[in-house]
Amino acid sequence: MSEEAKKSKLEEKLALKPKSCWEVWDKKTIDKVFAFAEDYKDFLGKAKTERLAVYEIRKLAEKEGFVEWGKFSKKADCFRAGDKVYLVNRNKTIILAVKGKRAVGDGLRFILAHIDSPRLDLKLRPLYEDTQLAFLKTHYYGGIKKYQWPALPLAMHGVIVLRSGRKIEVNVGDDPRDPIFMIGDLLPHLAKKQLEKKLKEAIGAEELNLVVGSIPLIAEKGVKEKVKLNILNLLNREYGIKEEDFVSADLEIVPAGRARDLGWDRSMVAGYGQDDRVCSYAAVRALFGVKRPEFTSVVILTDKEETGSRSNTGMTSRFWTDFVRKMLFVETGEESEIGLRDALAASEAISADVTAAFNPDHKDVYDPRNQAKMGFGLAVEKYTGHRGKYSTNEAHAEYMAKIRRVLSGARVPWQPAQLGKVDVGGGGTVAMFLAEYGMDVLDAGVALLNMHAPFEIASKADIYAAYLGYGAFLFAS
Ligand code: MN
Ligand code: MN
Repeated sequence: MSEEAKKSKLEEKLALKPKSCWEVWDKKTIDKVFAFAEDYKDFLGKAKTERLAVYEIRKLAEKEGFVEWGKFSKKADCFRAGDKVYLVNRNKTIILAVKGKRAVGDGLRFILAHIDSPRLDLKLRPLYEDTQLAFLKTHYYGGIKKYQWPALPLAMHGVIVLRSGRKIEVNVGDDPRDPIFMIGDLLPHLAKKQLEKKLKEAIGAEELNLVVGSIPLIAEKGVKEKVKLNILNLLNREYGIKEEDFVSADLEIVPAGRARDLGWDRSMVAGYGQDDRVCSYAAVRALFGVKRPEFTSVVILTDKEETGSRSNTGMTSRFWTDFVRKMLFVETGEESEIGLRDALAASEAISADVTAAFNPDHKDVYDPRNQAKMGFGLAVEKYTGHRGKYSTNEAHAEYMAKIRRVLSGARVPWQPAQLGKVDVGGGGTVAMFLAEYGMDVLDAGVALLNMHAPFEIASKADIYAAYLGYGAFLFAS
């Protein structure tokens, strides 16, 4: 053996060198990677809002034999190891659980992901006319770069609830036969001043208005805003709504189109809403693979993460601890606050959220030695937050060691990660809200390029690695 080869053996033994999944996996595994990505793209293309994500996941779960909690609890004595249940909260969050062999009171295994994504919501009085064009005003949701949204084909998904309570579904722009909507931008010929502005100021929030029509209703006399009236008339015919009905609506504006393969080698997925539907999907599929786990396995897909986890569908609400309380009650026949708190404190969790992948075109914002790389597997973060570890949960060394052991034991490719250079910026996840209950939690997810952009990019290898990693976590005791 040459001196050179000996050296590299020692390095292999001692140095940490994450490897690309594409170099590690055999052909059979890579076939599975691509097959998994097909299912994922199908899901991502349909699950354009949190409501649609809940709808799709509920469908998948029922196919896998999951039973809705309310229906299930009537036969409370049947809550046995391997039983599969789910609970939906206001059509915007869904919890899925597989009962473990051990008692719920011994602790649970949680995987937390979120199904809300940055987007544009309609304002309460969105419709107006200006210069014979009709528009809808929006209010952006979550952290977007506003300049990325004009001149893109956009779709609208959501519900309008009439005063009577009747709910009308709106899904326009994703079927190729549908019209789309668009926010206008300036032509370069007249954009000299706009282009001299900072990116942040180039497009203002009040300029994120959708063009929705241009034909005036000429038959109607004595009307000033005939284009607006024509749109109202069309909406009334199509959905039976009046202008006031926009007040009781959740209408979300998202990029139109399905998720697509990216690159000649088709190694990546480009699509809207991968933060955090990619981890959501991987977690759900991992749970489907769990038959009779040691500990009760729970996947919570939550809403409102992008705006601080408030409201009764966000992680600061008690809907999820109440679900655990119900499981405990069904199991023990007792209502016990102490029992609930002990169970939560004895639990372990993964906050399954995306992180930033290293982007070689913008090297200056990353610490390349501590940044997740596309295709290098599940990105594991000890902490998130910003500038001196503010606003974060930090996982303890003991828990990091356990997760390393679990991932390596199951041969899951993974990489230590952090979000960018220390003083450049940062971001938080729901991990801290779980930690409040005393359980151990760390962040582990898929690294994205273009995070929070209308179209985000994920490596198919990382998506599959997340699926394997979450499964290994749920299987481990
Ligand atoms: Mn996220
Ligand atoms: Mn996000």
